[in-house]
Amino acid sequence: MAELTPMMKQYFEIKNKNKDYILFYRLGDFYEMFYEDAKLASRELELTLTGRDCGQEERAPMCGVPYHSAEGYIAKLVRKGYKIAICEQVEDPKLAKGLVKREIVRRVTPGTVVEASMLDEGRNNFLGCVYAEQGGIGVSFADITTGEVWATGSDNWQDIASELGRFGPREVLVGGVAASAEAFLTFLKDRLEALVEPMAEESFETQHAAERIRSHFQVEDFDAAGLTDLPQTIQCLGGLLEYLEQTQQASLAALNHLQVYHQGQYMELDLIARRNLELCETMRTKEKKGTLLWVLDRTKTAMGSRLIRQWLEKPLYNPLHIVRRQQAVGALCDDVIARTALSDAMKKVFDIERLIGRVTYGTANGRDLHALSSAIACLPEIREQAAQFSQPMLREITQNMDLLEDIHALVELAIVDEPPILLREGGLIRTGYNEEIDYLRDLASGGKGKIAAIEQTEREKTGISKLKIGYNRVFGYYIEVSKSNVDAVPDYYIRKQTLANGERYITEELKQLESTVLGAQERLTTLEYEVFVSVRDQIAEQVHRVQKTAQAVAALDVLCALAEVACDNNYTCPVVDFSDKIEIHDGRHPVVEKMLADSLFIPNDTLLDSGENRVAIITGPNMAGKSTYMRQVALITIMAQIGSFVPASSAHIGVADRVFTRVGASDDLASGQSTFMVEMSEVADILKHATKSSLLILDEIGRGTSTYDGMSIARAVIEYVADKRKVGARALFATHYHELTVLEEMVKGVKNYNIAVKKRGDDITFLRKIVRGGADDSYGIEVAKLAGIPNAVIKRAKAVLADLESTMPKPELHELSDAEDEGPQITMETLADSAVAQRLRALQVDTMTPIEALNALYELKKLL
Ligand code: ATP
Repeated sequence: MAELTPMMKQYFEIKNKNKDYILFYRLGDFYEMFYEDAKLASRELELTLTGRDCGQEERAPMCGVPYHSAEGYIAKLVRKGYKIAICEQVEDPKLAKGLVKREIVRRVTPGTVVEASMLDEGRNNFLGCVYAEQGGIGVSFADITTGEVWATGSDNWQDIASELGRFGPREVLVGGVAASAEAFLTFLKDRLEALVEPMAEESFETQHAAERIRSHFQVEDFDAAGLTDLPQTIQCLGGLLEYLEQTQQASLAALNHLQVYHQGQYMELDLIARRNLELCETMRTKEKKGTLLWVLDRTKTAMGSRLIRQWLEKPLYNPLHIVRRQQAVGALCDDVIARTALSDAMKKVFDIERLIGRVTYGTANGRDLHALSSAIACLPEIREQAAQFSQPMLREITQNMDLLEDIHALVELAIVDEPPILLREGGLIRTGYNEEIDYLRDLASGGKGKIAAIEQTEREKTGISKLKIGYNRVFGYYIEVSKSNVDAVPDYYIRKQTLANGERYITEELKQLESTVLGAQERLTTLEYEVFVSVRDQIAEQVHRVQKTAQAVAALDVLCALAEVACDNNYTCPVVDFSDKIEIHDGRHPVVEKMLADSLFIPNDTLLDSGENRVAIITGPNMAGKSTYMRQVALITIMAQIGSFVPASSAHIGVADRVFTRVGASDDLASGQSTFMVEMSEVADILKHATKSSLLILDEIGRGTSTYDGMSIARAVIEYVADKRKVGARALFATHYHELTVLEEMVKGVKNYNIAVKKRGDDITFLRKIVRGGADDSYGIEVAKLAGIPNAVIKRAKAVLADLESTMPKPELHELSDAEDEGPQITMETLADSAVAQRLRALQVDTMTPIEALNALYELKKLL
């Protein structure tokens, strides 16, 4: 086999160390990809696949992208879940002896992008890490664009899944048991749609991890940081930092804001509740419009819009913290003029947080520094307006704002007004900032004038009027004289080239000038780059101050937004405490009321507590508004716990530790579960994890099976939820089984409600009002008529119903003896196992042919 060319050898050395990455190999003005990378990139990016001689018989498949437009291509690949390693020429090709030295300067993965074009400015971009072993599970998240790191731990996979749902990382590193937990990995890939990255066990070594945390976050006291009782979280953070160090060759100084929290510090919301309640994206179209975030997000800055999303993803649990936010919102509601001025002052602020991120990662260009500087210019006005409020939280935030005048002054002094995007082509540094730059610039531009002057003098000295000075790459500057004038050429002209109709010469003077001018230009661009980098580095050193200010602006922005929404929509400040109550007067659904264009939303009351009003059974026809009502209670509770005002005339919310939802029918074909199976596993999960302070929204349990089965399950669930010894949670339970309303008489804590309708003949009118008592009918046929089912079908359905009602006994629910439920739990697994065991026992292994054995194996697998 023929030898590879030296360049290809270098390529393979680098590629072999970066097998999981698409290697962008810098070659002149292009990033080239070779072999499999090239085939993949040409397919994904629609690039032409060419070939390059690599010393072998066959040419290496190759495709490339120009270096100055690589960002768009990288963004596209990262969005598709690929990881890119960027390999640069790390020495000047002109000065290199032999092959140019190349190194990986950065690895770009979905969780570690910093370029604005690859990010959504309204949401964080988290990289997650999960490390699990027998003792527990640690989970952490880092957003390298904003510098935040969050970490917690639990011994329960459910909690970890909730946390992952909350942060929605695009890439998750897994280690320890987590790397082999199949169901968990499927959850990450299919549910979260995250790129999963298994990491070696050494990355999570305890001692090493602790040292990394100590040195990176300057954490001395692990106890005070809340890490002592979370050993797996420490390991997890170690793995996360190691990965970031590997992928980001640049400084990780921006990543310094470690926040360790414990389960219970925030309201728990699992992925199902988040989806069902449409907090940040709608269930069907995954859009923001039509969600609670859409109603609340009136923020003016990108930092604010990320923070309000975070608040919504993490409602608080401690009423003290909630009240602090409420009071700030209240103060901003009370002074509309000052609030509007503050809000307006924030409108022009660019994304300080991500700009400083790019500064510290060394990817910020001149325009980024300008954007940062003009954002800083808005700070005095913001602080002045915010200082008008004396409310403690607002005052504290305002005090945390640093006006960063030094950074503003430095950028204004050093960087030209309209800097180019590229950094290595000069034109960046303002005149007056650096003496040497000024001198070189003068020389470089003055050189052209000097050449014209020499040309003129030489013409005069020689009397050759057509003498001209030209330039080419080989000889540099030369004097060109036509054949007819060669005799007049003086002695000091040195001949360099003979042309068909003339001669070219150089002179000492020309040579000297040439080296000064060309050298000046080259030196100027290099020096400008160096000075730019030093300015950028000086700003990077101030990262902590800038981040603190960015967070202050974000918090002001969110509080102003909540106040604006509260005033515009006539919200009220809820009482929030540790009581068992959820008492809402004239509550409204915050999103539905906004979507109803031409009709009024009818407000409704709610009363839930841990005494007589634990479970509200809600009956009423389809379309009456049961789901809307139940979700409204959940949303009002969540809004109250983020510190927002709520759509009601008054509300008293005893904080909920978790909100659970079981809503509607959904197949989960990806995980091989039927509609009914999904419903039952969600119910199982709720019954296992709900506590007395949880809020349960149960919509139509037991619909996916036969009437008797379904009704029995629904009744048993209500009894279990209402039972204080078992769950005792506050629950809203909507059902079409109006037979269940008898439970009010039988089960303590159950109350009936229905959504009123007016029936006239065959027609019904929805009143949308919730009233005490059960509905006596589901009015299914009437609603079907409203929906436009043909009259003939409606008529027939009525006849069938009449027949059924006369011939079939109506299901009736009676008081049952309290049969204890302590028998062995039968699960789907044990059932499947026993069937498998039976089949296995029956096999006559000795007499089976290989094909029969194979078939039996298939069959067993299917049974499992
Ligand atoms: P189904 O049993 O078929 O799921 P439902 O009883 O849950 O029906 P919803 O989906 O909650 O009914 O409500 C149907 C529609 O009624 C909503 O989309 C909304 O437009 C309207 N609606 C619900 N509640 C109200 C209200 N309080 N005021 C005004 N309109 C309402």
